[in-house]
Amino acid sequence: MTRWSHRHVLDLAAFSSHDYATVLELASRFHALPTAGARRLPALQGRLVTTLFFEPSTRTRSSFELAARRLSADVQSFSPASSALSKGESLLDTARTYVAMGSDVLVVRHSCAGVPAALARDLDQAGERVAVLNAGDGLHSHPSQALLDLFTLARHFAPEAPSPEALRGRRIVIVGDVLHSRVARSNLWALSACGAEVVLCGPATLLPQSFADFVAAPPPGQEHDPIAQRGSVRLERRLEDALPGADAVMTLRLQKERMRQHLITSLESYHRSYGLNHQRLELCGKPVPVLHPGPVNRGVELSGPLLDDSSCSLVEEQVRNGIPVRMALLYLLNG
Ligand code: ASP
Repeated sequence: MTRWSHRHVLDLAAFSSHDYATVLELASRFHALPTAGARRLPALQGRLVTTLFFEPSTRTRSSFELAARRLSADVQSFSPASSALSKGESLLDTARTYVAMGSDVLVVRHSCAGVPAALARDLDQAGERVAVLNAGDGLHSHPSQALLDLFTLARHFAPEAPSPEALRGRRIVIVGDVLHSRVARSNLWALSACGAEVVLCGPATLLPQSFADFVAAPPPGQEHDPIAQRGSVRLERRLEDALPGADAVMTLRLQKERMRQHLITSLESYHRSYGLNHQRLELCGKPVPVLHPGPVNRGVELSGPLLDDSSCSLVEEQVRNGIPVRMALLYLLNG
């Protein structure tokens, strides 16, 4: 099954159809394992996974650490506040310290786009064998989140055989702060690669028109797109125009910490225009699932009752699915 060629996982723009299928198939196998009793697989015994998070995280970090432990890897965590970074050590030297201790995988999150890729390049040039896994860099990319979203949707549409094919022709609406969302960017690559019809919805301040062409060409530095034909991407300004015909709705957090100017009038007015609740969801014309990568601003992107309604909210399911998906990535990177 595995024909895996990536030394690092930095951006889904480089993923082929086979890569998506491989991750989903492995994740399904890990998902099917019992979580009680004998929880650990010996696959990564003797390997060391280091999480280097220079930005806060609740879900991603603990999910990667749990995934690594379930595969019997040793896990080491770095926190910037208590590190020698405050004494002036460079990021690369910090990473090399962990590599010197025997790390096989560095899981890196940083507020600046491109940091995981720069580390991977520098470590490759230095002849190190370590793999770098991007756990979210600035506005750029969050591959493991988009892969767990894909797995969650594929399981929803085809519970018995969750594969990328399950997304073909499905209309997935992504609502909210697309501009500041690395999750939306990674999902655009992933969903369009699987042949989904993506509808982006938000005000012009949070969703520039240029997103209509986001997947039209590979990002700078990448010569060609490994996907022969991608699904479509369309923009809508009003939820009333975006929701009819949707098969799933993905909501995004308003990233207040990344907004340099006032881009919305108020949280209340945002909720009135773009917040989802049960009544709004009926505009889809049929029961559809709702996703959110978390953390959720309850009552802003999603009403409390909708977030807590497990008949349509897949938010907790996304959290659970993050573990097998990250197990799959760690397993593949450890070859
Ligand atoms: N947790 C996701 C991220 O790190 C989404 C968010 O923060 O809104 O990008």
